[in-house]
Amino acid sequence: MRKNIVAGNWKMNNNLQEGLTLAKELEAALKGKKVNCDVIIGTPFIHLASVAAIIDTKLIGVSAQNCADKASGAYTGEVSAAMVASTGANYVILGHSERRTYYGETNATLKEKVSLALANGLTPIFCIGEVLNERNAGKHFEVVETQIREGLFNLSAEDFRKIILAYEPVWAIGTGVTATSDQAQEMHAFIRNTLVAKYGEAVANDTSILYGGSCNASNAKELFSNPDVDGGLIGGASLGVDKFMPIVEAF
Ligand code: PEP
Repeated sequence: MRKNIVAGNWKMNNNLQEGLTLAKELEAALKGKKVNCDVIIGTPFIHLASVAAIIDTKLIGVSAQNCADKASGAYTGEVSAAMVASTGANYVILGHSERRTYYGETNATLKEKVSLALANGLTPIFCIGEVLNERNAGKHFEVVETQIREGLFNLSAEDFRKIILAYEPVWAIGTGVTATSDQAQEMHAFIRNTLVAKYGEAVANDTSILYGGSCNASNAKELFSNPDVDGGLIGGASLGVDKFMPIVEAF
């Protein structure tokens, strides 16, 4: 059965000391509590090793927010999937819309990143989602289907089972505008049907599909109550335990 997951994406926030404090505070809030989802934090690269060393990574999974599309070599400033794995992190967010928009990441590049992540034992949290113009033009299903097909459908069913998907309508990220519960469910069901067509019911039913885009303590319960919404990828509201814990506890 697929897992419920709440994953934080800290983006480029928190210096190392602040990040360690936040990770520790979250661990303290979770310790001894029975929650009905896996909890993950996606930190900047520089935090990964220290965060993984000071928290119980069985309680809180640790994720990078990106990795290189090359294995190693003369790629100044890049961080490879193997390097991420060597920190003790287990996950990597790939294809976030901010990476696609500001750093020109394409489905072709992402395909390479996914392969390298999997080869190094990392679980990709693969982000997909349309911009507002695409939704207004009625192209949102087509856009999302293309992102999945071009970024992931080269994978064997066995490898695809290791992927977590995050549907993040770009118009909802950091804007305070959330997709309605119906819009989220409609797209998540479409995504699951797309997976059924390629990999069959069993794989599709085992794939966790998270929603991301201004998810917060007030809307998480309703969003997560949808049959095809298996949790959330949380940006702004992951930067404080007081905001993040109610989302974790929405399950
Ligand atoms: C995100 O960065 O993945 C995200 C969903 O951000 P926010 O929750 O701030 O909209």
